[in-house]
Amino acid sequence: MSDEKIRCDACPVMCYIAPGQTGACDRYANANGRIVRTDPVVMLSHTIGSGGRLVPFAAREWDGDPLPSDTFVTGIGAGTTYPDYKPAPFIVSSTVAGADMVTVVTEAIFSYCGIKVKIDTDRFLGPEGAIIRSKGEVIGHVTTAEYGSQMLSIGGVHHLTGGSKSEGRETCAAMLALCNGEAVDLTINTGANVTVQAGRAPIVDGIMEKRMRVGCGSATIGMFAVQWRGLVDEVVVVDDHITGVVSEHRAGKVLGWPPTGIKVRGHRSTPGRYFKVSEPGLGWGGTRLTDPLDILGPWNSAKGAHAGLTLLMVSTTGEDHAYFVLDTALIPQKQPLPDALKATVGMIAENCEPSLCTVLFVGGAGGSLRAGVTQNPVRLTRSVQNGKTRLTSGGAECYVWPGGGITFMVDVLRLPQGAFGYVPTPALVAPLEFTLPRADYLALGGHADRVTPLATVLQQGGEYPTTAHVQPWPEGQA
Ligand code: SF4
Repeated sequence: MSDEKIRCDACPVMCYIAPGQTGACDRYANANGRIVRTDPVVMLSHTIGSGGRLVPFAAREWDGDPLPSDTFVTGIGAGTTYPDYKPAPFIVSSTVAGADMVTVVTEAIFSYCGIKVKIDTDRFLGPEGAIIRSKGEVIGHVTTAEYGSQMLSIGGVHHLTGGSKSEGRETCAAMLALCNGEAVDLTINTGANVTVQAGRAPIVDGIMEKRMRVGCGSATIGMFAVQWRGLVDEVVVVDDHITGVVSEHRAGKVLGWPPTGIKVRGHRSTPGRYFKVSEPGLGWGGTRLTDPLDILGPWNSAKGAHAGLTLLMVSTTGEDHAYFVLDTALIPQKQPLPDALKATVGMIAENCEPSLCTVLFVGGAGGSLRAGVTQNPVRLTRSVQNGKTRLTSGGAECYVWPGGGITFMVDVLRLPQGAFGYVPTPALVAPLEFTLPRADYLALGGHADRVTPLATVLQQGGEYPTTAHVQPWPEGQA
């Protein structure tokens, strides 16, 4: 065995690796004077038993132990096309439902990539545009909130390459951890500390979130007004975005709800719908409120207020609720929640979905890696865009953005575990597979001389010797 270091050329870092050692990314090693990929190539099959099995790969003495006919070679562990002039590690031919198909498989290096995180909570995590830090480094920002969820944008080329070295390194590390399903602690400027993990509930300032709101305050009124009728004189659903008031809301009007003389402090949008009743925060319905009465002005007896009038105030998850009765001075006095109303609050809670974090990887596959698929890269872009070529990442269906390039998004939980890697340039490594009819592959200038049947691929392996792990498709994957 040579004791000389040898050079890995699977990314621009070009590590010299000593015998028995791995390179900087731990994904390649020097084994007996040859660069090998340290992880098995992952293959997926619907018919393999649970747990799967490890098979030799590129072991020339292997006798071709048959694998299920639906075996799909993913990019996980496949190796890369870098420096891009070379064909993809595997260009596999197969017959699917009688059609001759080709799947081009690679591990792509993404300097242009980011993560969109959806956090199902009303709680205020930070203002739109606020910067997000991980271990003190800026790695992203808060972006536009969506219905019932706060959204974070993490990574991207500016944080990976445009800041200090430590910013790039930490951005890459946080993205890798999130993509591989690990928990990451994030600090949001003028906002909260959030622990994010794909498929798990967020932890906001040390408290695990339980429920995603049932809807905005107005929507909650619309959904439940019928159930409150006859049980209570007034209902206010407190929400940071749109607070609803049943007696004024269209839903209440249609039901013939009488006016109550209530006065809500806030920007009245339309009847029974109020914006900005408070500042955003970690209190009732994503507001700062700990006492919901703070948003009410004096009650007006000329418009229906009277002693004994009953009032339910509730948040959009039902977690916060309080019941009041007006005294003779028209001041709300807190009373225990009547049993009949408990059921309606329970109904709000029952209709809330569990609060989860969703992590989507966004990558740009419209660059040089296309040369590993075809000698005429723009034809691949067109083929993906017009739907002739199916793009998957570790077997998971991708959403491809319309317009130029091949910008795709994938839910990281739909990939097999540990599918993502990194290189210290810094950049993320993600598996990609392009599948299309053989005739179309040849027509777009594909590497015809590299198209290889699956059985031969198993015997010959790829550029980097490794094993292959044949495992079941992740749950829910077609
Ligand atoms: S960082 Fe990894 S892929 Fe890049 S040269 Fe070093 S061992 Fe090879």
